[in-house]
Amino acid sequence: MILIDGKQTAADIRAELKVRAAAFEERSGRKAGLAVVLIGDDPASQVYVRNKERGCAEVGISSRTYRLPAQTSQTEAEALVSSLAEDDRVDGILIQLPLPAHLDEKKLLSCIPTPKDVDGFSAENLGKLAKNESGAVACTPRGVMELLKRYHIPTCGKRAVVVGRSNIVGRPMALLLLNADATVTVCHSKTKGLKEICAEADILVAAVGKPRFITADMVKEGAAVIDVGINRVEGALCGDVDFDAVKEKASFITPVPGGVGPMTIAMLLLSVVEAAERTL
Ligand code: NDP
Repeated sequence: MILIDGKQTAADIRAELKVRAAAFEERSGRKAGLAVVLIGDDPASQVYVRNKERGCAEVGISSRTYRLPAQTSQTEAEALVSSLAEDDRVDGILIQLPLPAHLDEKKLLSCIPTPKDVDGFSAENLGKLAKNESGAVACTPRGVMELLKRYHIPTCGKRAVVVGRSNIVGRPMALLLLNADATVTVCHSKTKGLKEICAEADILVAAVGKPRFITADMVKEGAAVIDVGINRVEGALCGDVDFDAVKEKASFITPVPGGVGPMTIAMLLLSVVEAAERTL
């Protein structure tokens, strides 16, 4: 069994990006720029945003976080995003989710122009992904693909099963695997025969949000198992996969923490550098 080291892979990617970001700065006379919009005081979001700022600083991306109070109105939030859309120093705009309940997420996200949509959440970028055309892709599933690539795990002709169909993980994950020539099955809460379907997978991606949901009897001998889940159980982080039991059957497995998690931010940084390079 090979343990997939997302932490090291993400560090390798950040080192590569440092070179690319410096080359961009050299050519353009400015740093690649990310604007983060954080509305409200969700504690997990504060941590994610700090990690994104740290990642930007390491790579040489200029990042600016706009912290707005929870009671910010839709009009105020849209005005901010629209002004960032016009700002030439901003290559990527990220609206940290979840938003306070009174805000219309879809409408606010639609204020981000496609070239600055580094999260790949816009209808246009998702449409491009569905049509297998190039565009920004959601960072977490892109990180999974990067891990598969860097660990030389083949996808062409393989059976891939994605458990979860959210717009930010499961759905784009399934499309990326399909675009990489895997035969893909997407499972969700209404799926019947989940165990049997999972047990056919050469590549099994768990994005459910339920601790240790994928048990060893759901995993084929020799499968590559990718755990996207981040769950907090009794103060400790654990994934959606019953790691200790599943690692005995898997050929490759990601740990939680230290697997997919660090890749998400690395892919965000990559998307910002790519967006900046497209402005040259
Ligand atoms: P969502 O809650 O949006 O989606 C969960 C999916 O799991 C849904 O499609 C749901 O089905 C499906 N599901 C729920 N119960 C079952 C079940 N019993 N059987 C089969 N499918 C089921 O979560 P996200 O996609 O946003 O996130 C998934 C996990 O990944 C979470 O733990 C989250 O914290 C983590 N995450 C990690 C990131 C990282 O950087 N590593 C980034 C983003 C998320 P249905 O559609 O029918 O409701």
